[in-house]
Amino acid sequence: MKTVQILDKKFALSINEQSIQKEVTRVAQEINRDLKDKEPIFVSVLNGSFMFTADLMRQITIPSKITFVKLASYEGVASTGVIKEVMGLSEDIQGRTVVIVEDIVDTGLTMQRLLETLGTRHPKEIHIATFFVKPDKLKVNLNIEYAAMKIPNDFIVGYGLDYDGYGRNLPEIYTLVE
Ligand code: 5GP
Repeated sequence: MKTVQILDKKFALSINEQSIQKEVTRVAQEINRDLKDKEPIFVSVLNGSFMFTADLMRQITIPSKITFVKLASYEGVASTGVIKEVMGLSEDIQGRTVVIVEDIVDTGLTMQRLLETLGTRHPKEIHIATFFVKPDKLKVNLNIEYAAMKIPNDFIVGYGLDYDGYGRNLPEIYTLVE
């Protein structure tokens, strides 16, 4: 089995490039079909989604725009824990159809926060496109219309996802070997 060593951890190949690209194509086709007359604005969430976004957008054939945001985590006051602030949304999304492009939805708390923040800018509607979702870990109720792959609760790297900053460049997915 093909493995990679990243810092102190070993990861084993779990999803190959071909399987990834097949699902990207399927999601792109669904979006092209569903949002044909809506001129969507894709909002790509950096850093993790850069690879999925690039692959996806090459297969989007309908008129659309793309913009990028970044989430900054900081410790909230009192007991609110880690809050994620959305940075860099320069595009006017008022009255527009928005598609959030994420790498992975785990607990869903990040996505919930994004939906709340983008919602204050009065878009017409917001759709969610994520490459991965871990359905068993979802803590909040989200309508994820475009999910490329559903995966178990393991920690993964590659295809934009990192371990301590490394591994984002891997074109396939590797799972942590415990
Ligand atoms: P959530 O708020 O949904 O719990 O977390 C989403 C974020 O957690 C993702 O954007 C990603 O940064 C990180 N994350 C969740 N699961 C994984 C994983 O298996 N591997 C990596 N590299 N990051 C993950």
